[in-house]
Amino acid sequence: MLLTYGGDTASDAAVLRTGGVPLTPDGFDWPLCSECDGAIQFLAHLPVEDGSVAVFFCQNDPGMCDDWDATSGGNRAFLFTGDLAPAAVPAEGETLLGAATALRPVARDASAEESALGRLGGEPEWLQNDETPSCPRCAAPMAFTASLEEGRDHATAANFGGAGRAYVFTCRPCTEAAFLWQC
Ligand SMILES: [Zn+2]
Ligand SMILES: [Zn+2]
Repeated sequence: MLLTYGGDTASDAAVLRTGGVPLTPDGFDWPLCSECDGAIQFLAHLPVEDGSVAVFFCQNDPGMCDDWDATSGGNRAFLFTGDLAPAAVPAEGETLLGAATALRPVARDASAEESALGRLGGEPEWLQNDETPSCPRCAAPMAFTASLEEGRDHATAANFGGAGRAYVFTCRPCTEAAFLWQC
């Protein structure tokens, strides 16, 4: 499936979106960057079969914190299940994107391809080498879940190094998720 622009949405909508606030379980602590120690930016809410994935990456000092790497600690992805509620946003740090944008899954076709904001399922289309991460818990290769383009509008787009692409992976049995980007 392709992900196409679905318009502005509420910041706490339980729909597939970039931006807005994360929906998280009770007791969730907003993730901090392991390199700069700052609160990291919430990028995407991605409903999956048995829960939802929340993706964060460091934008406090773009380019300085290895936020493209699945294991550096400059980004975090969570697979949440059960009851979720909007998280409390930290007062400091580059924590939110400029807008909450719904992404609408549509069947793949050539006319939608060009303006697509991402892809859901199937095989990852790597810009560089295959960097499929291993699950931190069971060490198996993680399953490709979605990819995201930077966005349609400079003011609200994510920063994947300029015309980059981000990749979200999950290990459902372990309720783990991972994120990386390439450009
Ligand atoms: Zn950082
Ligand atoms: Zn696993």
